[in-house]
Amino acid sequence: MNFLEERIVKDGVVKKGNVLKVDSFLNHQMDIKLLDEMGAEFKRRFADKPINKILTIEASGIGIACVAAQHFNVPVVFAKKSQSINLDGDMYVAEVESFTHKCINHVIVAQKFLSPSDHVLIIDDFLANGCALQGLLQIVQSSGATVEGIGIAIEKGFQPGGRIIRNLGFQLESLAIVDGMNAETGEIQFRDQSKMNGSAGVGKDRICRSATLD
Ligand code: 5GP
Repeated sequence: MNFLEERIVKDGVVKKGNVLKVDSFLNHQMDIKLLDEMGAEFKRRFADKPINKILTIEASGIGIACVAAQHFNVPVVFAKKSQSINLDGDMYVAEVESFTHKCINHVIVAQKFLSPSDHVLIIDDFLANGCALQGLLQIVQSSGATVEGIGIAIEKGFQPGGRIIRNLGFQLESLAIVDGMNAETGEIQFRDQSKMNGSAGVGKDRICRSATLD
């Protein structure tokens, strides 16, 4: 198990509805040492890429992106979410369906912060169905910038987002891939990424146990 998988097993909570709660260390209370280790790992995995900007989405991506940015020595731009269609100014806008809140948000980035000369690493906390990511990809595409890669803390491999994004040809690196979880027993099944061919293969899974919550 890698450091993030170990932490998920120790402090993550499997909830009903395929939701993994990691709010004690990742996306509410944040363990900065852990985030720093994640940033170093993203830097290692994207070491050969000419990244000059990190793009994430509010709110939970921001902390992870900011700590990672220190390893890349680049600025962070975060896309803002708004349910209002009353938007003005020069902005890139994409529509995103929220997995956790089951609603449609507009995701917005000011045009002045993304341009064709930018080489972007997209970072987020979770990848589930891939809607948030598709919105960010659409924004980068509108700006003419280049997506150099995508770094995700936790991918839920039993939902289609990871497969869809990899099939589009992007280098998608997820620090932990959960291939299954059981809200009754707290079991979490991680994909064995050491057996993966590049980042797109399917490795052997291991089963670990975390806490459960109704
Ligand atoms: P997607 O757009 O890929 O379906 O979902 C990604 C977003 O939904 C993430 O940014 C994250 O905020 C939220 N999300 C999806 N699944 C989970 C989950 O199991 N636990 C938590 N805490 N957030 C999730």
